[in-house]
Amino acid sequence: MHIALILTSRCTARCTHCSASCSPERTDALLPAHVERLMNEAALIDDGEDLHFDITGGEPFMDFEQLHAAIAHAGKLGGGVSCVTNAFWARTDAIATEKLTRLRDAGLELLSVSVSRFHERYVPLTSVRRALSVAAHLGIETELKGAITRRDLADDGIVAKWEQTLDADQICIFPVIPYLRSDAPPLPDDEYYREPGLPKGRCPSEIITIETNGTASSCCGQSPEPGFLRIGDTNHESLAVIHERFRHARRQRILRRHGPIAFARRAIEAGYGHLLRDAYGGPCDLCIQIGSTPELRRIADEMSAPDGPDMTTTTTNKRRTPVIDMKTVKKNSSGKKKKGKKKKGFKPGMKTVRKNSSKPAGTGA
Ligand code: SF4
Ligand code: SF4
Repeated sequence: MHIALILTSRCTARCTHCSASCSPERTDALLPAHVERLMNEAALIDDGEDLHFDITGGEPFMDFEQLHAAIAHAGKLGGGVSCVTNAFWARTDAIATEKLTRLRDAGLELLSVSVSRFHERYVPLTSVRRALSVAAHLGIETELKGAITRRDLADDGIVAKWEQTLDADQICIFPVIPYLRSDAPPLPDDEYYREPGLPKGRCPSEIITIETNGTASSCCGQSPEPGFLRIGDTNHESLAVIHERFRHARRQRILRRHGPIAFARRAIEAGYGHLLRDAYGGPCDLCIQIGSTPELRRIADEMSAPDGPDMTTTTTNKRRTPVIDMKTVKKNSSGKKKKGKKKKGFKPGMKTVRKNSSKPAGTGA
């Protein structure tokens, strides 16, 4: 059982590309008792997967004691835990060491640090580097998650700077998609990194995700149209019921087996092809466009209805992530580093990523 918990929407930053519009003013958060209950329920679900909790936000380090308590509870249940952060707290080696030692001892296995040019307005790269290097020194697996626009890939762009200054066990670079924070001015269209045509990949990162109000969705990217991927409400339903819906709901099965392109193809047949773009930043870009465009959403709703067309028996597309992955050195389950092939350079086009580690840009820390 693998579940993501959005502990809080509060964040030290207000990144332009943050589709969840996290900010210092937000106050919504999961209550600690709710977090514990969800973890307890998750531990009772046997779906063949290891018990694992992804803790995200907002910025979960803003309430460090709640973060510590959640990780400790997951650890007591025997679950693995990863956590996403923007690393604002890593101001000195001493602070980073003190916090990460406590989290490691409580059970933190993986620290994911998010970066982008939007993050850099709020968090210096020195803090990101410090968080990653202290975590690695303490034996915590590390991941760098970088959200990029086209200009960031220039020879002297931000990706080159990350390449020179940052390192992590896993590195995952993915495009910013045009679902920005609610009060952000739009980016020029040519700022987005896109590939021509409809993205053929299947859903790269489905996971039961609990939002701060207790609702559950099948995606860790907080879509601007949350109802599209909603699968329940943990305030009124058990996680076991939601988990069954997650596994069997038609919309989720279509995304899992075919990807959002299945909805797009049907939309073209129905005469709505003009609403689609010529290029996309990956399946999540297309998926969110479908979920937030009324005509496309209606097509997806019809296909997802119980009497919709049978789309769930065959698989047409290989799983393809929206990420531009650069290199990966994975650890085996005993925590020792397995030497993977270390790719030279942070280059677009390499796509090897730890299961469930990718997500649409701008979501969580
Ligand atoms: S936005 Fe992406 S990860 Fe989320 S459900 Fe859609 S395709 Fe899957
Ligand atoms: S993208 Fe991450 S760091 Fe930036 S505002 Fe959103 S949650 Fe905070």
